[in-house]
Amino acid sequence: MPGLRSKWIGIIVPFLVFVAVLTIGVWRYGYSQALDQLARRGTADITLVLDGLSSDLQRYRDQAVQLAEHPTLTQLTATRQRDQAADDLLLAAADRTGAAMLLFVDSNGTVLANSQEQQPAGLQQSRYFQRAMDGALGIAHATDTGFGKRVFYFAAPSFADTGQIQAALVTVADVENAEIGWRAGPTAVLLIDSDDNIFMSNRTELLGWAHPAGSTTFLHPNGEKHVFKPQSFGNHEVWKLNLGPYLPSEALRLTQSRPQLDMTGLALVDVAPAQKIALLQSTVVGALLLFFGALLFLTQVRRQTLSIANAKLESRVAERTQSLTETNKILRHEIRERKEAEAALKKAQADLVQAGKLSALGQLSAGISHELNQPLMAIQQYAANGGAFLERKQPDKAGENLSRIDEMARRMGRIIRNLRAFVRNENEPVGQVDIVPVIETALDLTGARMRQSGITVNWQPPPHPVWVSGGEVRLGQVLVNLISNAADAMTDSPEKQLDITVQEGNPVVLRLRDTGPGIEEPEKIFDPFYSTKQVGDGDGMGLGLSISYGLVQSFGGNIRGINTANGAEFSVELERWQEKDKVA
Ligand code: ADP
Repeated sequence: MPGLRSKWIGIIVPFLVFVAVLTIGVWRYGYSQALDQLARRGTADITLVLDGLSSDLQRYRDQAVQLAEHPTLTQLTATRQRDQAADDLLLAAADRTGAAMLLFVDSNGTVLANSQEQQPAGLQQSRYFQRAMDGALGIAHATDTGFGKRVFYFAAPSFADTGQIQAALVTVADVENAEIGWRAGPTAVLLIDSDDNIFMSNRTELLGWAHPAGSTTFLHPNGEKHVFKPQSFGNHEVWKLNLGPYLPSEALRLTQSRPQLDMTGLALVDVAPAQKIALLQSTVVGALLLFFGALLFLTQVRRQTLSIANAKLESRVAERTQSLTETNKILRHEIRERKEAEAALKKAQADLVQAGKLSALGQLSAGISHELNQPLMAIQQYAANGGAFLERKQPDKAGENLSRIDEMARRMGRIIRNLRAFVRNENEPVGQVDIVPVIETALDLTGARMRQSGITVNWQPPPHPVWVSGGEVRLGQVLVNLISNAADAMTDSPEKQLDITVQEGNPVVLRLRDTGPGIEEPEKIFDPFYSTKQVGDGDGMGLGLSISYGLVQSFGGNIRGINTANGAEFSVELERWQEKDKVA
């Protein structure tokens, strides 16, 4: 994460520097553009002022030239008498142009006529009067001490018929009249004469100050000096003034020279609007750059955060997959072990079944050998009889004995077949089995034992097959087990009866009911190795019922043992065979 932070700092800092440089650039460009505009306006202002002044002065000048030759005035040079008509003429003329004063003065400086009883100070010695006396038009400007005002002087020569200069018409014009028109303008305009004096201005506070041409200095009449540091923006020069509230604190300096007026116009245009525009433009550009930069930055941060989260997720998924793969491996191993255990169990079960069968066979062996002995002895007897009858030439009787022998041999064959089937150790599939012959075979196998023990078997086989799902051999084994158990139980019973019934339905229920002492612990009888029989008396391994239980379960059936009023009852429920089972 610290690496990431320094990476971001490495991007943000140069970006901020870039924004700052660009913003300053925009500010400078915008400022110089706005200054161009201000310069155009200021130049127009200054031109307007100078043009206005020129035309004002031209008016006075023209009037002076015209009046100098007026007969009412020229005749005064001869009479040298004051004439009211001449004074009235000058007064009317002064009123027309707004001049402060008109005078008609002879070459000695004597006033022959005037528009008012006053005259400019030092008239006779003045340069403008002398110029008129030389036959030229005299123009001058000054702060007239007599009037106490700034004025323009015009002196036009008046020629006698001889061509001599006999007098001059002097016009004194108040400068303030001309200033009135441009006083209110936003641009400070200064008219500076060739003596570097600020003679006219729409900012009265600067009047009387001096500004040497081309300098950055203003000199107060009391000698105080104000120097300004000029700043350049392109072609423009901006001054920081701080010269009172009526002058801009920062101003664009513009000049325009008018030699014919003996004046140079200096305009000081307030640059605040240009600064505002430049500031606005640069702020907008800077803000936009920052905004889009921030947007870009946030998008990048978001993308980065997402990719980090993604990477984390992927690594977690990889970890989880790894652990799942391992779990899977372990599970497979366990499944293999289970399968092996299952196979071992099946094998053990099969071995048990076989053991159970052999144990049953052991129990049955006495009965079976008796069962086989009996026909064998009978065969011996019949054979002997047959031989005797042949000797006596009684072949019919001998044949009868032979057929008896055949019958006995068949019976023995059946017994041996049943035994072989019972002991057969093979996996027989669950299929359709008729329960009736299975019961008959079991009774056949146990018949000798039952007869020996004096047990009466009550069995009414149904006249038709009763089909169930099961395996013939295994079902036979279950039945031999149950019948043998009943016989064992009834050994000491006074009444020895075994009832076998088949209840048809679904399931088919086969019941074996004996008249023994009943079951001691019914909940334990299906446990392996549970036996109440004496060890060593040839019976009692305690496996018969538990094997039978497993076999019946494998057919999808059930086996139960309960006590009745006079003994025990074992019931075997078996699924009835249906056509659909065959299809399945
Ligand atoms: P085993 O016959 O070798 O003892 P089994 O599993 O066949 O083993 O029987 C277990 C026990 O169930 C017998 O020892 C006996 O106590 C009881 N039992 C089985 N059948 C009967 C029955 N018909 N009457 C009473 N008890 C029975």
